[in-house]
Amino acid sequence: MIQELKISRKDMDLIQAELEANKPYEACGVLVGTINGSTALVEKALPVANARRTRTSFELEPKEFYNAWSEAEKNGKEIVGVYHTHPVSSAVPSLWDRETMQNVLGVWLIAGADGMRAYVWENGVKAVKIML
Ligand SMILES: [Zn+2]
Repeated sequence: MIQELKISRKDMDLIQAELEANKPYEACGVLVGTINGSTALVEKALPVANARRTRTSFELEPKEFYNAWSEAEKNGKEIVGVYHTHPVSSAVPSLWDRETMQNVLGVWLIAGADGMRAYVWENGVKAVKIML
């Protein structure tokens, strides 16, 4: 189980900029990198269009997601998780997030109005430590 997410300041800034740019709607994207034991190392945060474009949910646009996945695969990387934003609420999984998390493996990084937090689903929502 993933317990730690390593991400660069640059990628965190990019996600924060995406939060601001898409307000009041949620923004989303994928985290490309590698998983080593209990650590997910993010090498690149890649924005993906939110096919739902709502204030309370997101859906990675399927074609863009596929392109991100195949690009990662080609470079020997994987999608270690997804990120999305909560522009007007805290970085805590919503009811919708909790239901969706059960079907989407990897780390869930949420950028909220109160900062960023990361989670995985492992018989329930578990916190993942963010390391810069
Ligand atoms: Zn959410």
